Amino acid sequence: MKNICILGATGSIGLNTLDVISLHPDKYKVFALSANTGWEKMLDLCKTHKPAYAVLVDSDAAEHLHRQAPEGVTVLSGEESLSKIAAHQKTDYVMAAIVGSAGMSSTLAAAEAGKRIMLANKESLVLAGNLLINAVKKSGAELIPVDSEHSAIFQCLQGSHVGLSKIQLTASGGPFLNTPLSELALVTPSQACDHPNWKMGRKISVDSATLMNKGLEVIEAHFLFALKPNQIEVVVHPQSIIHSLVHFDDGSVLSQLGLPDMRTAISYALSYPRRQKSGVASLDLTQQPSLEFLTPNLETFSCLGLAYDALKAGKNAPATLNAANEIAVEAFLNKQIGFLDIGKTIESVLDAVPTTNLDTLASVVENDRISRQVAKSVIESRA
Ligand code: NAD
Ligand code: MG
Repeated sequence: MKNICILGATGSIGLNTLDVISLHPDKYKVFALSANTGWEKMLDLCKTHKPAYAVLVDSDAAEHLHRQAPEGVTVLSGEESLSKIAAHQKTDYVMAAIVGSAGMSSTLAAAEAGKRIMLANKESLVLAGNLLINAVKKSGAELIPVDSEHSAIFQCLQGSHVGLSKIQLTASGGPFLNTPLSELALVTPSQACDHPNWKMGRKISVDSATLMNKGLEVIEAHFLFALKPNQIEVVVHPQSIIHSLVHFDDGSVLSQLGLPDMRTAISYALSYPRRQKSGVASLDLTQQPSLEFLTPNLETFSCLGLAYDALKAGKNAPATLNAANEIAVEAFLNKQIGFLDIGKTIESVLDAVPTTNLDTLASVVENDRISRQVAKSVIESRA
């Protein structure tokens, strides 16, 4: 029996994880759950899953939960409690599914404590890739990707890079794949969040619409699989059936296919190296529309090009890109800036923030703080 800690339990990945776990009560026990502020949702989850710990970062929300939580559930609050449950001696596997850089320190805590990390929170790697990978190596933790593209590559590689020449990450292209550039300035947050294939949280939905999600995934792949930027390509595949491809020197290409449902990747991260039922129906290719493949349009979707530039520049550039993106996406969701201003803001922030090395946690935190501050002033100057 494995004790599971789900960070970001009330979100899209968190709830899908609980779904998969419910199919296997003989294998997994929900040990700890966390969320930011949503105490009502967390109360429901506590009643259903009876975790030993429930963390709400917000102290008022935690107080509400504490008053009503079922017996046996210890309610904690504060950011530090996220790391506490992630590194808890009784935790076996940690689902890192908090959105954004808020997930970094608890992912790192799980890595330092030698846990199996099921990584959905790609921002942790973009922000602190070297620190996280080094912590994993030092402690003997396992880092299993949950992002569907990286899960696909992980499944194809089976731990061996022998003969690998390059990978191709597939991208759905998002809701604006066929929208002309001239119309993108005026698209709304609800249009941006209306993804054709996946139901996800709002931040990653906007990232998918700008293609920054794919940019973050390029950087994620660099750290996860130790690949050079020129070994990581992106191909637009609107049907989201092929979840990525691995090319080998002899011309072979391996890929993983499946319906677009995150429970497959979540289930694999839980059961690796074995497999188990995930609740996802099997794929019938005869019932699918034709599969299409296109080259991404970097002129329209500048964020993808910016992510490649940041990866090539190295040092603090990916972390700066991530911070600027988080601030810009938030401003777009709050209708402070337009859709195309997201990329422009990130570009200005990358130009303005000085190059530094990020070899300590303190330097990562400081760079994140400065980049956010610069992003906010860029946005204010645009308003
Ligand atoms: P979501 O918005 O649905 O859920 C986010 C979760 O994080 C919630 O439980 C929320 O309470 C918690 N949270 C938010 N801010 C927090 C904070 N400041 N401190 C602590 N907790 C906080 O997001 P999601 O779509 O589930 O995505 C989660 C992560 O998984 C993201 O990094 C995303 O890029 C990645 N991911 C998601 C999908 C998907 O299909 N949804 C696919 C691949 C990767
Ligand atoms: Mg993905």
